[in-house]
This record gives sequence, structure tokens and C-alpha cells, in this order.
Amino acid sequence: MNTSSKILTPDSRVVIIGGGPGGSACALALQRKADRLGLKPQITIIEGKQFLDEKHYNQCVGVLSPPLPELLEDELGISFPYDLCQVEIQGYVLHSSANQITLEGDDDTSYAMRRVQFDEFMLEQVKKNGIEVFPARAVDLEIHEDRVIVYTESLPFEADVVVGAFGLDEGSASMFSRHTDYHPPEAMDSLVTKCHPNGDEESNLKGYIHAFLLSNPRIEFGAVTPKCSHCTINIAGNSVDTPLMDRFIDHPSVQGVLPEVDREQPNGTNDLIYFKGRFPRSLAKHYYGDRYVMIGDAAGLVRAFKGKGVTTAVMTGIRAAETISDYGFSKQAFHEQYRTANQDIIQDMPYGRAMRLLTIIVSRIGLINPVLRAAQTTPDLQDALFDAVSAHALYREVFVKSLHPKTVGAILRAMVSGNPH
Ligand SMILES: Cc1cc2nc3c(=O)[nH]c(=O)nc-3n(C[C@H](O)[C@H](O)[C@H](O)COP(=O)(O)OP(=O)(O)OC[C@H]3O[C@@H](n4cnc5c(N)ncnc54)[C@H](O)[C@@H]3O)c2cc1C
Repeated sequence: MNTSSKILTPDSRVVIIGGGPGGSACALALQRKADRLGLKPQITIIEGKQFLDEKHYNQCVGVLSPPLPELLEDELGISFPYDLCQVEIQGYVLHSSANQITLEGDDDTSYAMRRVQFDEFMLEQVKKNGIEVFPARAVDLEIHEDRVIVYTESLPFEADVVVGAFGLDEGSASMFSRHTDYHPPEAMDSLVTKCHPNGDEESNLKGYIHAFLLSNPRIEFGAVTPKCSHCTINIAGNSVDTPLMDRFIDHPSVQGVLPEVDREQPNGTNDLIYFKGRFPRSLAKHYYGDRYVMIGDAAGLVRAFKGKGVTTAVMTGIRAAETISDYGFSKQAFHEQYRTANQDIIQDMPYGRAMRLLTIIVSRIGLINPVLRAAQTTPDLQDALFDAVSAHALYREVFVKSLHPKTVGAILRAMVSGNPH
């Protein structure tokens, strides 16, 4: 135990609370970086869920976006589990209530897989590398000048630094809020379900994710995502619930995409059982300090509004590991290194919030219909919509493309000419 300075030494102990993608990536990256410095810190992940045999899982649609394969291979030294991929995403179809447009990018494939299998894969890599995974929930902590104590449902752990990789878990957030100035990110609700087509019919989405911006003021966005033998359906908004999901599924635009669904569940499948999760939509406050740092959803370090949560959790886990190994774990080190490394995400947040607001307004007043019509003949607008829906580019870039005079002119002309259909 390093009792005075806040830098990594050969006998440092690091505890990571949460073994989702952020926590696993942080552990693997830290071990790799410390190895190069000739250090062998003791790293422990405390994870309360058991992903093996799919006993528990983290809510997710399971679309894994670039540059995740490169991050795993280049930064963590592990191969991306292509064998777990159920569907290679070919593109997106964006729907309004009256129009639709197909959006395809040039490269940068995303992959759909069962998220629980990805989490299990990551934790297996952690264990294979000799990193301890302790199966329990962390329930409290103490942060002292010279050490941190993390209490679990069984053994307590002493550490030099604790990494908060606990996602949007409210108990964990309040544990940190009690002992630090940490305040978790604001979040929005999401409901998820999956539907299997009747009979043996394969998913008919042909690898395309269908995203919906309908005019229901309570649904900010909805999507139908192809998986191997089923589709995942999800909606998100400030307070989405079961009746709202029912209405979304019954909407004619959504029905036009869904395979014929067996709602009676005669075969005992999970069809149309709804699950609830949450997305962060703002940066957490005071997400680092002396001897602690949050990563991924717990820090709110994600693309505001839409997308890439797993990739960003991995990215921020790697960045936290870099700071700890190269600069230490003082508040100053996290402020100067970790915060700076995440400026790409942080600086894009105001644009993401503006995009969210704009999308809500445009969808509610029916303006999304002329936008999609204009996009049919305006490549810049098509690119902007692809980047926004796929989360492949920064929102700032989406704004620049959307507000180009040619694009605005095309939207105005589409508004004046009305819906040709
Ligand atoms: C409905 C829905 C669909 C989504 N779809 C996608 C998608 O398709 N693609 C995508 O990239 N992102 C998606 N996301 C976002 C993505 O799931 C998150 O951004 C990502 O999982 C964040 O990773 P994380 O490691 O920060 O946290 P998490 O994945 O939430 O992991 C946190 C881990 O910490 C553990 N934990 C929490 N508290 C404790 C404790 N006290 N003790 C021990 N363990 C603890 C939890 O069990 C969990 O395993 C979706 C989110 C939702 C809600």
C-alpha cells in the first residue's frame, strides 16, 4: 500500500467497482500500461452480476460501434469477438410518420450481438490476464488521505485508488455522493423488448437498423434492430412506460417494419416482455477527486442523446488507466490528464444537447417529414442524418453539415412543396 504519494508504485492496489465494458477495459489497459513501466499493481474488479449462463445482464440493444474493434486490439491486446456477432449492420432506415430514408456510410461497420455475451467475454479476458474479479456488490466506501476502503457484501478491500465503473446504478452513485461531491449524470428512460417472427422466418430487416422519429411527444426516439433470429425494439424518453411502448409498436410505421409478431407467447419465449434501462444525458458533477475517478456512464462521459455507450465506456476506461499509470491518482492528475483526454466528448455535449432539443421540436411539429424528403436529393443532409443516427461523427460536424445554406434551402423547398405522397 502506497501511504503518501498518489502515484502508481509496484505495490499499489486498484479497485474497480463494476465489471461492465468500462471497468473491464480499465483493468486490462491499466495492467498493460503498468507492465510496460515494470509495475505490477494489484487490480480487483468488484462485479455484482453474473453474466455467465446469462443469469444477469446490463440493459443494452447490443450494437457495438467503431472504433471498438481497434480499441480492443490496439489498446487492450485482445481480439474483437467477431464470432459473437449476430448481424453486421448494413445501414439505417430513418422513419418519420410519413416518410423514410435509407442511410448508408462508406465504412466503419457496427456489429449487433448479445450484450451479455460481450460482457462475459470481456470479464473472461480480465480473468485470463490474472486480474481478480470479486463477485459481490460494493456497498460503501471510505476515502482517506492515504487510502480508500471499499466495503462489499462480504470482504472489504483497501486500495490506493478506486475507479467508479458502476454505470447508472443508483446505490453506487449515492455511495459516492455521500463521501464526495460526486453527483450522477441526468438520465433518460429506455424500454426494450424483443420479438421473434412467427414460425421459422428470419429477421427481415436485412441488417438495417430502423430508427423512428415519430410525433409522440414522450418518445424521443425509437428503434428496431435486427438480431440473429429476432428484432430488438427500444424507445427512449424522459418517462417512457409500458403503454407507450405498446403504442410505439402499434404505430403503422413500426408495424410496417416488424415481422409478424407472436404476442401470445405460446412457445414460452420472452417475446414482448419489456425491460427498463437508463441512458445518461449529461456530464456527472465532480466525477474525479483525490483517489477516485468515474468512467463510462457513471461519469456521464457519453455522446449526449444517442449512441456509442459501450465504445465510449471502453475509451474512457482506457483514458483513466493511462492517467493512473502515467500521472497518478490525485485530483490534479485527473483534472489535467483525464479531463483533458476526454475533451472530444465533453466539448461535443452542448451540440448533442442542442441536437436533442432540435430533434424533439422538429419531430413534434411534423417538420421531420420535409427534412427526410429534402434528404432524398441532398447528399450533405443525408450524410448529416447518417452521422447523427449511427453516432459515427461528432454532433458539431452534424450541425455544420445540416446548417449548410444548400441543406437549409432544400428543407425550405421541401416544406413549401408539401408531401408528394
Ligand atoms: C436500453 C438501452 C440500450 C442500449 N443500447 C446500446 C447499444 O446498442 N450500443 C451501445 O454502445 N450502448 C448502448 N446502451 C448504452 C450502454 O449500455 C452503456 O453506455 C454502457 O453499458 C456503459 O458501460 P459502463 O461500463 O459504463 O456501465 P455498465 O455497462 O452499466 O456496467 C456497470 C457494471 O457495474 C456493476 N455494478 C454497479 N454497481 C455495482 C456495485 N455497487 N458493486 C458491484 N458491481 C456494480 C453492474 O452490475 C454492471 O455490470 C444502451 C443503454 C440502454 C439503457
